[in-house]
Amino acid sequence: MPETLSHKIAIIGAGPAGLMAAQILSNAGYSPTVFDAMPSAARKFLRAGRGGLNLTHAEDSPLFSSRYFEAENFLQPALDTFSPNDMQLWAQDLGFETFVGSSGKVYPLDKKAGPLLRTWIHKLKANGTQFKMKHRLVAWSKDIWQFQTPDGLIDYSFDTVILALGGASWPSLGSTGAWTSLLKDKGLNISPLKPANMGFNVTFSEIFKEKFSGTPLKNVELSFTDIKGNLQSKLGELLVSTYGVEGSLIYTHSKFLREQMEQKSPFTVYLDLFPHRSQSKLQQQLSVSRGKQSLSAFWKRLGLDGIKASLLREVLAKELLSEPELVAKTLKKLPLTLESYRPIGEAISTAGGLAFDNLDQGLMLKDFPGVYCIGEMLDWETPTGGYLLTGVMAQGKQAAEGLLKLLQTRNSANG
Ligand SMILES: Cc1cc2nc3c(=O)[nH]c(=O)nc-3n(C[C@H](O)[C@H](O)[C@H](O)COP(=O)(O)OP(=O)(O)OC[C@H]3O[C@@H](n4cnc5c(N)ncnc54)[C@H](O)[C@@H]3O)c2cc1C
Repeated sequence: MPETLSHKIAIIGAGPAGLMAAQILSNAGYSPTVFDAMPSAARKFLRAGRGGLNLTHAEDSPLFSSRYFEAENFLQPALDTFSPNDMQLWAQDLGFETFVGSSGKVYPLDKKAGPLLRTWIHKLKANGTQFKMKHRLVAWSKDIWQFQTPDGLIDYSFDTVILALGGASWPSLGSTGAWTSLLKDKGLNISPLKPANMGFNVTFSEIFKEKFSGTPLKNVELSFTDIKGNLQSKLGELLVSTYGVEGSLIYTHSKFLREQMEQKSPFTVYLDLFPHRSQSKLQQQLSVSRGKQSLSAFWKRLGLDGIKASLLREVLAKELLSEPELVAKTLKKLPLTLESYRPIGEAISTAGGLAFDNLDQGLMLKDFPGVYCIGEMLDWETPTGGYLLTGVMAQGKQAAEGLLKLLQTRNSANG
């Protein structure tokens, strides 16, 4: 029988949720041990820095909280304990000033994750947090937690555990969602993991794809009716990709679109390519005689060129392109048919996960006192915009504070 190693506090998963829990616990004088399957910590957080590390959002607190959809009420205590403002103070405390971008998104000045993560981990180690990398949790039976390590299987026992195992997107960065079978075996209720903040497949012509994949479609309004019958409509920017569409305007709506497409697929949404010009104005401009000008040159003078003009050509037959009324109408309500959504492995984040009804208000498993679950592995979702990192780190703080109280209670009970 292998020896069972004993640690007081284990945090399994070294993503931002787990690291924030480690920070709170080590600041309180404890020495938590952080386990992770990967050779280094927080690979997804690091990857997030490549596109500009969006830590949080500067909007008002009620609006901010509403970004968590149905999970808003359950997550509010976490957000109360670690607000968007606290996120900025946290970065400053590590020596990284932040700034608010034009859309309200908050970034570190250099927008990078690497320097911030290195400083964070350095500070955690100096404060007493221990790290055990290349330790993949593979089994949990009674009080024994078994890890696959380079030295083979090792059994550990812990007084308390925080599970922060992430979702199932970008599995190469460590979060594979394999924990679902482990927790299902414990009789815990888990909603199926689904992609969130993902792209959608659209059938564009080969010519269009060749010319425009990687091109942003800026300043357009996307609208559709969600499954509850509400009109969803937002201005923004999407990106044409090799398979279809992605980008912030798509991600913002990804929850509602996924829900729609689970009922009915393909699903058509509508783009207003000129949200600041009325249909009648466009029609009037398109009705002016173009003389000897080519159609493209005439359109260009009206601001209809590049990707917008080509998108119009994707949906209207050539012989209809000279009809001002139809063209104006189509520019204001251009149909974009989403065939299907991209797989979870490619998504920015994960919807579904461990259901809240397994947890008490402090994020501890009701059936397993002393075991907490936090971060993207829980059943919630939110758009991109800094809400993900704020949400997971807030849960890390909330669970660690709950754990500190539990330890105090246990200590006083033991005299
Ligand atoms: C490309 C990209 C860009 C992003 N950009 C942003 C952004 O700018 N702003 C933002 O707010 N969010 C962003 N996100 C999302 C954000 O990074 C995640 O929501 C966040 O990292 C989730 O934190 P977490 O700690 O819950 O899980 P994770 O960061 O996924 O960490 C979970 C950890 O658990 C480990 N693990 C999993 N299973 C096991 C196991 N069995 N045993 C041991 N260890 C295990 C994993 O190796 C991993 O280290 C981005 C995501 C991606 C993919």
